[in-house]
Amino acid sequence: MLHSPACTRDFATSLVGRSGRVTGLLRNGTYAMVELDGEPGELPGGIRRWPVHWDDLELSQPAPRPESADAYRLGLSGSGRDAVHHAVPQGRETGLCGQRAYPLPVMGWSLSFSATATRACPACIH
Ligand SMILES: [Zn+2]
Repeated sequence: MLHSPACTRDFATSLVGRSGRVTGLLRNGTYAMVELDGEPGELPGGIRRWPVHWDDLELSQPAPRPESADAYRLGLSGSGRDAVHHAVPQGRETGLCGQRAYPLPVMGWSLSFSATATRACPACIH
């Protein structure tokens, strides 16, 4: 919980380890609005929705699908340290978000997209 807003960090000890789902984006996608699972009475501070930085989230795949997580290759837009990671379906040159992304071939094979990467494109994760 190093990157999230102070209001979220204040409740870090009771937020870490909880599950929920991302319901929206804040500040141009810098933060995720996370809606916690659970009963209102046992939520931290009685609050269901929290702004959390992507680097503080442990994202799981939305649901197991026939095409495995490996179906998406890692594609980049931008360059150097600012490059954004996009999930690129096989045989395409654009990420799931619609942005053009070039593959990053490593010795003939492609890296898989990881939704937990620091620079992962928020739009591609959804
Ligand atoms: Zn993307």
